[in-house]
Formats: sequence, C-alpha cells, structure tokens
Amino acid sequence: METLAPIHPNTIEFAEKYGPIINGEIVEPINGYIDAVNPATGKVLSKIGRCGKEEVNQAVQAASTALPAWSNTSIEERSRLLNKIADVLEENQERLKMMECLDTGRPLHEFDPDYKLSIYQFRYFASAILTYYEGASHPVQNGYLLTKKEPLGVCGQIIPWNVPMIMTAFKLAPALAAGNTIVLKPAEDACLSVMEFTKLVADILPKGVVNVVPGYGVEAGQALIDHPGIDKLAFTGSVNVGRLVGKTAGEKIIPVTLELGGKSPHIVFPDVDIDRAVENAVFGFTTFNGQSCILGTRILIHDDIYETFVEKLIERAKQVKIGPPTDRSTRLGSIISEKQAKRILHYFEIAKKEGAKILYGGNRVTVQGHEHGYFIEPTIIEAEPDMRIAQEEIFGPAATVTRWNDVNEVIKIANDVEYGLAAGIMTNNLENALQTANKLEAGSVWINSYFNFQSGAPFGGYKNSGVGREYSKEALDAYSQSKSIVAAYQLPPAGFFK
Ligand code: NAD
Ligand code: MN
Repeated sequence: METLAPIHPNTIEFAEKYGPIINGEIVEPINGYIDAVNPATGKVLSKIGRCGKEEVNQAVQAASTALPAWSNTSIEERSRLLNKIADVLEENQERLKMMECLDTGRPLHEFDPDYKLSIYQFRYFASAILTYYEGASHPVQNGYLLTKKEPLGVCGQIIPWNVPMIMTAFKLAPALAAGNTIVLKPAEDACLSVMEFTKLVADILPKGVVNVVPGYGVEAGQALIDHPGIDKLAFTGSVNVGRLVGKTAGEKIIPVTLELGGKSPHIVFPDVDIDRAVENAVFGFTTFNGQSCILGTRILIHDDIYETFVEKLIERAKQVKIGPPTDRSTRLGSIISEKQAKRILHYFEIAKKEGAKILYGGNRVTVQGHEHGYFIEPTIIEAEPDMRIAQEEIFGPAATVTRWNDVNEVIKIANDVEYGLAAGIMTNNLENALQTANKLEAGSVWINSYFNFQSGAPFGGYKNSGVGREYSKEALDAYSQSKSIVAAYQLPPAGFFK
C-alpha cells in the first residue's frame, strides 16, 4: 500500500493526556501526569500518565486474567489479528510518524523506513506463527513423543525513546503471536505515538491482552520488573538498567531478553570507492539522530587511504543538513533531551582531555525558530582504540576515526570493546569481507551497506550488547516454552517393577 498524503505538523492533534491502558480502558493514574515535550521547541505536546505500583498491579492482573483465553485462541485467529494491527498501523502511519517526529526531535524522513519496518514486524509474525508449531512429534517405541510450545504467560516489556514504534513492534508482535499477554512500559522521554497506537491495538484485541503503563523508569519500570505476576521480561535500553532487569529475572527465575548498547566498528578496506564508502559511513553514524545502539560509531580506516578518506568524511559531514525535525530535507534533528545533549557534549570534553582530536564538529548549534532545540553537529574524532571516546557509547551523532594496517589488527581493534551488537565492513574483496565477518564479535554484520536490516535476520547482541534475538523467528522461541509429552499405548505389564 502506498503511504497516504503527508500531514502538516500544525494539523496534528494530540489528546490532552494519555493515561495508562489497562484492560482495554484508559485509566486515570493516581499520581497524575508527566509533560510530554517536543525537544526541538520545548513545547509541551501533551501529558503521559505517571504510573507506579498501583497501575502496574492492575495491568498485570488484567494481563493475567486475559491470558487463558488468549493463549487458547487459535493461531489462525492470532495471525488474523496481528495482520489487522498491521493494517491499522499502516492506515494511521502518517499521523503517527508526525507525532513521533514532534515527540522525539528526529528528522521526519526517517520515519518512513521506521514505520515500514514496524508494519512489517506484525505481518512477519502473523505469518511466522502459522508454521511455527509444525512437526516435531514422532512415534517412539510403544507410543508417541509429542512436543509442543506454550506461551510463557504475562510479559513485562520496557522500551526506550529512540525508535518508539520499531521498539513497540519488536516487543508486541512476537509475544502476541506466541500467545502471551503483555504489560508494556514505554519511555518517559517519547511515547506519544506508542500511546496512540497501542490504544488502537487494545481496541482490536480482547480486553487485557495488551496493557500499557507509561511513566518513569524508577517508578513504573521498577514496579513492572519487580511484580511477582510477570513471567518474562524484555528490555531495550542502557546496559546499567539492563543489568538490573537481568538480575531481577535471575532472582525470579524467569527468562529475559536484553537488547542493550553498542559501539559498532565500521571497517574500511583500501580497495573501496572512497566517495561511496564515505557516504555510507556518514549515514552509518548520523542516522537516527546518532541515537541508536546499532550505529557504526568507530570508523576503522586502512592506512593507505586514511588521509583522503578522513578529508572526504569531513566534507561529507559538513553537508549533513541540521534543521527543524518536521522539515523533510533535514538529516539531523534535535537530541531527545537536555540531559542527553549534555551527556554527548561531555563526551567531547572527555575526548579532548584524553588526547583525542576533534577533526570536525563537537558543538551545539542553533536552528532558527528552534532556539530551544539540542542540535549537535556531526562530529568526527581521531582517537586511539583504547580511549574512552572510542570505547563507550555516546548516543549522539559522533564517530571516532582510527587507522589500521593489518587485517588481524583491525579485527582485534573491532572486537576490543565491551559491546557486540553490529559491525560494518566495506570492501570489494569477498574473502576479506567474509573472513572478517566471521571473526567479528557482533550479532549483525553489514557488508557494503550499513544498517541493511533484512527480514528474518536475527537481531541482538554479543557480550554486553545483550541476551537473545529479536526480529526473526528466534523471537518466537524467546516468548515460548517447550513441553514434551510421552504417551505410551498401554500401562506397563503387570510386575514390571519387581
Ligand atoms: P534507560 O536504560 O534508562 O531507559 C530505557 C528504558 O528503561 C526507559 O523506558 C526507562 O524508563 C526504563 N528504566 C529506567 N530505569 C529503570 C529501572 N530502574 N527499572 C525499570 N525500567 C527502567 O536509558 P536512558 O537513560 O534513556 O539513556 C541512557 C543511555 O542508554 C543512552 O545514552 C544510551 O547510551 C543507552 N540507550 C540505549 C538504547 C538502545 O536501544 N540499546 C536505547 C536508549 C538508551
Ligand atoms: Mn518528547
């Protein structure tokens, strides 16, 4: 289906407030509301519920009550409803994209691929579930071995603010397909599109199958992970909170999926077309406003082309258009909050102190009419691999550049960080490409095209980047448990236990 006519930001009407969605109804939160802000203008767009223990408790109860019927709903019907959710997202996408643009400060044009991917997630799992349960049972001596998958139960899911709709789709689609019910905690910094969309979802599904509790991490988030009625936790966000979620899951002995940070290498071999490689590299660290765990933020360039490549990289970075997020030609919008912007700028100070060189950028800039916004230049920093600036996740439009000589050396540099989410390789040499890809500690490797997200590709991290995989069929395993049933034709012969 073609996208519908574009929508003007002034025509967007947010609800006055977005309370939690519990048992199919919007509920009044007992602790009131939090302002939802447009970071580019400082304007308050609406208010989101400030949920705590009380709302989480009600939401978990609703999810728990809805579970038996939902988990016994036929897979054909679950599939049909997931496709219906995809349709509704598709029909409402232009309005939701603009809402998300206003709420996050990210450039409007980025939401086209975001929503395509999100709609696709629901369709993918609507299809995948139809064949998921096939096979696996077979005759054994004197009977049958039956193996079956069952849902885990009530899933507590916590998502970040950077790509709200993608995250919502990644969490809801496989969990629903596998027959689970959900309590979703979206991020306090950006969740208006999620609140709008999940209300539509709640209207499609039986009451209580999807419940949504917005609010602060330490209140709503903490109450959710601590709740004894949760059977599975799934989290995307920072390593520190991820560790806490994992620890809590460990104490409760429930499964957990964690998708955490990244500091991904983007390796440039000397045989590439430099102009095209440079463009791919700039896209690789500035897309998503630089606020994504998958970005290629460590550009590792072969010695033979280092000077030329870096020179062109700077020239290309200068052309990245910083501007109002709602302008379709903008490529870098506003950082999500003052806190995150300060964190990014602080990293540039750390870089200077440790002797790294800022080759380009490094500053906050003003965009006319958006003086409040936190716009930061695409920033290129020459750094040694062991410096903090080359080791820690900045979560802003910044990349380090580092030179290398030998392929084993670059693999070592690439792997020598705590993270292992993604990696990019640019070369025309197939052997270099595949041998290097094999040796990289990364869940996703993109050769010659950064962030080339393809259907069915398992997505998740090595090392501190997380536990488990999403986006692919593996996600169904992450939301299911297996049961084996061995059936004998008859009772053992009398006296068999003598
Ligand atoms: P965060 O981890 O604090 O927030 C992510 C989600 O977790 C939000 O919904 C938040 O409300 C919730 N949360 C926070 N504390 C919680 C707690 N104690 N219990 C339960 N839930 C809790 O991330 P942030 O503060 O928004 O960003 C900080 C850094 O984290 C970023 O600069 C970036 O490095 C990283 N980050 C990574 C991703 C990712 O996609 N992997 C996304 C966002 C942020
Ligand atoms: Mn916002």
